[in-house]
Amino acid sequence: MIISNPKGTQDFLPLQSGQKHLVETRFRETVGLYGFSEIVTPTFEHTELFLRSTGLTTDIITKQIYQFIDKGGRDITLRPEGTPGIVRAVLQYNLKLPVRMFYIGPMFRYERPQKGRYREFYQLGVEAVGEIGPDIDVEIIEIGSRFFTGLGLKDVITKVNSVGCAVCRPKHRTELGLFLERNKAKICDDCKGRAERNPMRIFDCKEATCQELYINAPKIVDYLCFDCQQHFQSVLNELVERKIPFELNKMMVRGLDYYTRTAFEFVSSSSELGAQDSLGGGGRYDNLVEDFGGPKTPAIGFALGLERIMLALGTPRPIRKAVYIIPLDPSIQKQGKELLRLLRNANIPALLNNPDKNLRAGLGIADNLACEYVIIIGSEEVKKQIYTVKNLVKRTQKQVPQNQIIEVLTNKENQS
Ligand code: AMP
Repeated sequence: MIISNPKGTQDFLPLQSGQKHLVETRFRETVGLYGFSEIVTPTFEHTELFLRSTGLTTDIITKQIYQFIDKGGRDITLRPEGTPGIVRAVLQYNLKLPVRMFYIGPMFRYERPQKGRYREFYQLGVEAVGEIGPDIDVEIIEIGSRFFTGLGLKDVITKVNSVGCAVCRPKHRTELGLFLERNKAKICDDCKGRAERNPMRIFDCKEATCQELYINAPKIVDYLCFDCQQHFQSVLNELVERKIPFELNKMMVRGLDYYTRTAFEFVSSSSELGAQDSLGGGGRYDNLVEDFGGPKTPAIGFALGLERIMLALGTPRPIRKAVYIIPLDPSIQKQGKELLRLLRNANIPALLNNPDKNLRAGLGIADNLACEYVIIIGSEEVKKQIYTVKNLVKRTQKQVPQNQIIEVLTNKENQS
């Protein structure tokens, strides 16, 4: 029996890998414009790191962590998100602040797998540590907008909210608690638990009846303290100033405990995504560094889901760029090898047909490998030093003198 991949994981076959690479490249280019440098942290950390940051009341910690005791007796967790490891590294290496970092890598959550939701998935993220805002808040949201626009994803809406701080939350928590108490009979069992542990988490609930009920629940943004209100107003003004389209969404609180003040989410209306329409999100986490034992340090970041971005982009078309050389006779293989070397030395990707494959089979392989050109060399061609160059995309062919091959292949405008 063939062993298949574990439930909730995905293989990126060559075609998808091409698209994955393209998305990652665009991401690197975009964040580079804003001065972000890459940070790479381990895919597993001490479990305690996540318990102290992601939050004991979140779905990620209560239901989804991949936790195990390793052979040395250490309590280890496969990272469900990137931020805690990065904040750990900032403190561990005493990085000079402010610092702007980005990351790309796999995350692990024991979820109920479905389209757009996996147990291993990739996130592309940014973290700016040491900047108080509100300018950086807007800058971070702008990066997301610019990145999605650059990818050609037009149907992405940016939802923005403020989730306040330790000063504004107690009053809201009390009011929300009373609301939930009054509506106890109408809320789902999960929300009953959330109401006890951390009432604001009820807004994460996916149950339609709960969602409808919470439209009338007290919202944190209406309870902001003076400083949070000022901060939020400046963020909204600057978003307008920079002409970044957004939607104020009072119900959006994000699924992690450490967020403070600005929170945002990028939502796609692409039909490819269905219920998993959140392409990414983030927010401020002004207390996390301190919670980890560091000095009081403001910070903000976001994480985007690579697989969902790829779903929104749609099935990729193969990028045709290589040249496939077919010598028509084993005696011409030597000339084929020479041309192969010549092309590769000119930075043109090239492959050579195996002598045991005839022309027909060779053309089939060239097509399978998504080559752009086929160059056919027969004994006549060798004699005349003129080769047949077939363009597989345009379905044209022409005779090209051997010494002009590179020029013709690299000067694609003139190539028919
Ligand atoms: P979060 O870290 O929960 O704020 O999620 C940020 C983004 O990561 C989401 O908007 C999704 O695009 C993506 N994401 C989160 N969980 C999953 C998952 N289980 N499978 C695929 N993508 C995910």
